[in-house]
Amino acid sequence: MVSRIIPVDAFDLVVFGATGDLASRKIFPALYKRLLAGQVPADARVIGLARAAHTPEAFRHQLAASIRAHVGTAVDEACLARFVSQVDYLQLDVLGEAGWAELVARLGEHGARIRVFYLSVAPGLFSPICDRLWRHGITTVQSRIVAEKPFGHDFESARALNLHLAAHFAESQLYRIDHYLGKETVQNLMAIRFANALFEPLWNARFVDHVQITVAETIGVEGRGEYYDHAGALRDMVQNHLMQLLCLIAMEPPSRFAPDPVRDEKLKVIRAIEPFDAERVREDTVRGQYRAGADVPSYADDIGRTGSRTESFVAMKLRIANWRWSGTPFYLRTGKRLRARFSEIAVAFREVPHSVFAQTVSRLPANVLVIRLQPDEGITLRMTIKEPGPGGMRLMEVPLDMSFAEALVGKGLHMPDAYERLLMDIVRGDQTLFMRGDEVEAAWAWVDPIAAAWELDRRQPQPYDPGTSGPDDALMLMHRDNRRWRGIGE
Ligand code: NAP
Repeated sequence: MVSRIIPVDAFDLVVFGATGDLASRKIFPALYKRLLAGQVPADARVIGLARAAHTPEAFRHQLAASIRAHVGTAVDEACLARFVSQVDYLQLDVLGEAGWAELVARLGEHGARIRVFYLSVAPGLFSPICDRLWRHGITTVQSRIVAEKPFGHDFESARALNLHLAAHFAESQLYRIDHYLGKETVQNLMAIRFANALFEPLWNARFVDHVQITVAETIGVEGRGEYYDHAGALRDMVQNHLMQLLCLIAMEPPSRFAPDPVRDEKLKVIRAIEPFDAERVREDTVRGQYRAGADVPSYADDIGRTGSRTESFVAMKLRIANWRWSGTPFYLRTGKRLRARFSEIAVAFREVPHSVFAQTVSRLPANVLVIRLQPDEGITLRMTIKEPGPGGMRLMEVPLDMSFAEALVGKGLHMPDAYERLLMDIVRGDQTLFMRGDEVEAAWAWVDPIAAAWELDRRQPQPYDPGTSGPDDALMLMHRDNRRWRGIGE
């Protein structure tokens, strides 16, 4: 699955925001791991940029310590030394004009090669950086621009940003990251669906009763209160991560596994989701906000003020209006301070049309295919079999279980972090796992009416206790349809 290392061409990677949280925890550790795996060539170069006044040596020293802290495994010190020797640092305030000539000079040392500009900074800095890259003639046709989430706050702002980027760069140069798409299991969704004859004939409303997508976190808003309170779970999680998962579950088979065929099909799904009017928002969405627990602060304490109507939890039921999915509801939920750090997609199949075991078994459980994203990536298919032993035909449910981590043990393979995969795809110029501008806009166009209806609704989100599955109304969303959520982390 992850055995073949395809080396990438030499590249220069410029990381804006090199001293920040994302760069320290994700980007640099991922690069180190790819170097360890032999995928990053010895003449590749990384240039970190930020306003802090570090010398390149001081930055390398700090970087080595940060990689040791974040890489999650024992560090190969020789490899780490090699990695940091390929890293340079440049002090630069992206809102000023100083320093860009120095960046031009450093990039010029290697002539024409792949240049990746990773915008790991606040979204408000994306446009100013792109303007200056353009103005100073830093980008070439071999350049890629990588934008982190959030990509816009609503349809209008996402469109404005897309137009701004399009003024300087071709769409083929833009890599909008949704790191969920870099997760092995998420990509496996496409392998399961399109590389096995078994599932695809059943993958429709005739055989699928409903789909549940859960992304649960145990943490609160942590140090991101100001950003989060402006965004909320709908914008921070549903518009991007849950929407992408939904697309991969619901899309038609693309003609081939290539950027535009895949993204065309995802876009069709987003455009086919039934829009929400105010009444649907009232009926089919639930907003929650966590209270204080025994040893954890409330949402209000976390953001430092009371009265916020921002949701830290969302549950919703949506429908996809097309031939394949008409009649199959999709239930989505995501929230903070829930029972466990836990993400999964469950495809619940319909019951068999007639039970031949009616004399001994009152109701046959239906099959469920569960795709686990975290904590333990893997796939489970719940099946019904005969309970062993004499004494008549008794049935029992068993899981056909595959943990990726266990499956890789002994094969010398590891589960790569999403950023490892995505970074190498960027260098290779493969946009398949990145969101196209029209996809992002379509997702915002669907989300905006929900956000607007909540804005008009003066009620507070429902409070819920930390360590639970969220507010009771979220349970009711499924109970009233005679269905129930799967347990979080059980
Ligand atoms: P952060 O910790 O606040 O880091 C921001 C970085 O930007 C720092 O290196 C900062 O360094 C630099 N910076 C700020 N203003 C600058 C300026 N005028 N010129 C040059 N550099 C400047 O932020 P982060 O958490 O890493 O997030 C970065 C981006 O990734 C954001 O768009 C965020 O939404 C996104 N993201 C983050 C995470 C995460 O887990 N952290 C997850 C998903 C997406 P100086 O202050 O030294 O300049």
